[in-house]
Amino acid sequence: MYETVFSPGRIGSLSLENRLVVPAMTSLLSDPDGVPTEEMMAYYARKAMGGWGLIITENIRVAPHGGASVRLPGLWEDRQIPGHRALVRRVHDAGGKLCAQIYHAGPQASRAVSGVQPTAPSALCLSGYSEVPRELTEEEIRVLVADFASAARRAVEAGYDAIELHGAHGYLIGRFLSGRSNKRTDRYGGTLEGRNQFLREILTAVRAEIGPAFPLLLRLSASEYIEGGITPAETAVTAMMAEKLGADAIHCSAGTVETNYRIIPPSAVAPGAYADNAAGIKACVDVPVIAVGRVNDPLTAEQILRSGKADFVSMGRASLADPDLPAKARAGRADQINRCIGCVQGCIGENKKGRHCTCLVNPTAGYETELTVTPAEQPLRVTVVGGGVAGAETAIVAAMRGHRVELFEASDRLGGQWIAASIPPGKADFAAFLKWQAYMLERLGVTVHLNCRASAEDILAGQPHRIVLATGGADVRPPIRGIDCAVPAEQILRGRVRPGARVAVIGGGLVGAETAAYLAREGRAVTVLERLPEIAGDGEPNVRHYLMEDLERYRTAVYTCAEVKSVDQGQVCFVHGGEEHRLETDTVVLAAGLRPASGLWEALQDCGTPVVRVGNAAEVKNGFWNIREGFQTGREL
Ligand code: SF4
Repeated sequence: MYETVFSPGRIGSLSLENRLVVPAMTSLLSDPDGVPTEEMMAYYARKAMGGWGLIITENIRVAPHGGASVRLPGLWEDRQIPGHRALVRRVHDAGGKLCAQIYHAGPQASRAVSGVQPTAPSALCLSGYSEVPRELTEEEIRVLVADFASAARRAVEAGYDAIELHGAHGYLIGRFLSGRSNKRTDRYGGTLEGRNQFLREILTAVRAEIGPAFPLLLRLSASEYIEGGITPAETAVTAMMAEKLGADAIHCSAGTVETNYRIIPPSAVAPGAYADNAAGIKACVDVPVIAVGRVNDPLTAEQILRSGKADFVSMGRASLADPDLPAKARAGRADQINRCIGCVQGCIGENKKGRHCTCLVNPTAGYETELTVTPAEQPLRVTVVGGGVAGAETAIVAAMRGHRVELFEASDRLGGQWIAASIPPGKADFAAFLKWQAYMLERLGVTVHLNCRASAEDILAGQPHRIVLATGGADVRPPIRGIDCAVPAEQILRGRVRPGARVAVIGGGLVGAETAAYLAREGRAVTVLERLPEIAGDGEPNVRHYLMEDLERYRTAVYTCAEVKSVDQGQVCFVHGGEEHRLETDTVVLAAGLRPASGLWEALQDCGTPVVRVGNAAEVKNGFWNIREGFQTGREL
């Protein structure tokens, strides 16, 4: 089924076992001195065990001030080589091949991180920057070119199998390439020829340093998807130039810092959506082209390869979600892959907060040394009440440790609030996680009782050693006159209540906004009433971008800073901008948040068996934290 995916390939002199590539993703696991830590080695080694054809490291700094974070690796000094050598050895020992991506963040480095003013081709304050960068002098450019060459030499000495130059995503090389950020009038700017000059010099210097045979990849953004930014036609020219100067492959990405939603597209974007960009480059060069962009299953990868749009496929977040994806696909077990659902909460979401890259559906990603699952010293009887994602995760991890686990779910399905969360536009992939949890519960022999609202007596009758309450959350009903007639968003999304043609949604957090988009797409006239100054403020920016596009496309009316006064006889009365408004509606939807629902907690307090609460039953939080808490609870039982 995956013949093309698992056919051998070559990048220059490098032979690869298959066509699946892990692209660079910032793990933030390096030490501040740029040396890989034990945690970083475990992270990459775990991927290597899964059978990926090529793994590309996260962005390695070529200069100490050239990183967007201090927790990025570096190769600006020879003393850093041994640490990288150890990393390469770990990946090789695990059966993988490792490519060093070298980069300079340019204007995306910040004074807060590096202590110095960031630099750029031009001193422009573009929206993606935290501060105005300083324009590089020609002398400084010469030094940077030499820095790239020296870092490449060190990567070779460290034993890496290949080197990738990061010329995409609005980092320094990308900023030179883009007419939007490069306004220089010297030989490094002006025409495309001039804007390519910095990259031309780097390619020439790196090639001279590493010799003619060492595999060299170049990552480019085919399009920056922004006015005045890099276009596919320009990138094709740049790629042809790079090929002439010795690039052995073009890694075809998309977007820049201001269009980050293109770099890391969420679930609203179709899998493999940017493969045509790769095809455009492939039509112009003879070296292999690598496609990237929300490829989260081997079938999409196979389709891209068979269509001839690319020679390799990058699957970054898919490798976080399930490092064993290639091994499972090769063994005919693709249905057992834990799929990336495009939530962007654990990977980029955590990165943006300065924490390790991890994954909502795989809490161990980025925490390989910390979140180990070891057999329990004493197998116990564990009862989990509530089959939402937090309860199921607890049950799975407890069962992995050898405990005998029984799970009670009051409804006829596992998943809880997650079921509704997978229904709005662009969120169908969320259901894949429920499927995976169900598969794991079955495989691990967890006894699942559906349609079973367990009482304290029912629970204790099984004489459990540990009780886990994962009973979720209940809707918050704000003190608004007539609010009792409002229908919870979950009921609407799950099709239990059919709304009328005119709908008011009270509460414009992510749930309310997504429910509004869902209803508006179906042709209803929808109005969102939110008391805060923005809607979907609890959503990741990349998710929010596409959601806002949807709301606009389907002409959803949005009132922020709105205070709902009453809901009465088909009218919602609210105050906005100091004025009272009356909105005629057929249905009022409630999305004002949740509160913990753990009624059994009180009843079990003196039962003599340890009881813990997880997920929303303990404290209301998002899916990422609920699943993590479930995982952690399972480890600690
Ligand atoms: Fe994919 Fe979400 Fe995991 Fe990121 S956190 S890798 S988007 S499932």
